[in-house]
Amino acid sequence: MLDGGVLRISAGAVVINWRRLRDLVAPAECAAVMKADAYGLGAERLAPELYAAGCRSFFVALPAEGIALRQALPDDSVVHVLNGLMPGTAAEYATANLVPVLNSLTQLREWHGLAQSSARRLPAVIQIDSGMSRMGLSPEEMRSLPPIEELSIHLDLRLVMSHLACGDEPDNPANGEQRHCFMEAAKAFPGLQRSIANSAGCFLGPEFHFDLCRPGAALYGLTISPASVPLACAVTLDARITQIRQIEANTSVGYGYTFRATGPMRLATLGIGYADGWPRSASGKGATWFDGTRLPILGRVSMDSTVIDISELPRDGLFPAI
Ligand SMILES: *Cc1c(COP(=O)(O)O)cnc(C)c1O
Repeated sequence: MLDGGVLRISAGAVVINWRRLRDLVAPAECAAVMKADAYGLGAERLAPELYAAGCRSFFVALPAEGIALRQALPDDSVVHVLNGLMPGTAAEYATANLVPVLNSLTQLREWHGLAQSSARRLPAVIQIDSGMSRMGLSPEEMRSLPPIEELSIHLDLRLVMSHLACGDEPDNPANGEQRHCFMEAAKAFPGLQRSIANSAGCFLGPEFHFDLCRPGAALYGLTISPASVPLACAVTLDARITQIRQIEANTSVGYGYTFRATGPMRLATLGIGYADGWPRSASGKGATWFDGTRLPILGRVSMDSTVIDISELPRDGLFPAI
């Protein structure tokens, strides 16, 4: 009663989505990408639920996220660090039992060096750049890669992976081109498991699933590509109405008077704003919903309040009216 709104996160919905994706991509393994605190939904709370459902492979972006996630998960799970090995930190990855996604020859040498000097066989994933120019070994680096038999003496190479740039556009020829480039480059690692699919890749069909899929967004109910399985909504945000008012034509709304009414309207002021993470970029174009009715945001989103148009709702359609 004392707050402006309530954000609800459903761990159950995340587990439902993981199971649907697991069934979709089987026999490939379905991992869970939990970077950025599980897309803001709380990695340490969600990971054990996914583990209980059978998920064993987890991906984060940064080693600090990995260390926190490791503590939330049993030992027979694997936590991979997508951003690779930060220079000079190999010992910390090894101590924390993190698997780096090696993105360059420098990272490969550093991880290999630690394994050699500590007489251990360290687990590793190799990423190949198949077109996105973001992370992974370039075609040039691939040509100067030491033979895999030599690397495998000290490294337990688990997986070779790449990442799709345009997976959310199913008809984009870049998807097939990246897949082809990945398969060619992965020939340098015969017998190694392969992975290229993020959420959008899971929906591109079995030829993109390989041995392991890495959905993030879809687990949390988000898709920007046509999803081939229904996804459960994992997040809802309810806002409290702090005022309702009637305005006449030519009345302005909010900072900068960026909205001006052309006729009579009913407005509601909500008790949440950009301080709550409601994006200021939704000013004048975002919307809220009440019982399936779209209620547009009028004018600028303020720090702790937002004005919406409720003219579409029956007069007694909202309660408690103030
Ligand atoms: C973020 C990320 C994913 C997950 O992507 P979604 O689009 O959220 O499914 C998978 N792989 C890599 C390398 C990523 O960076």
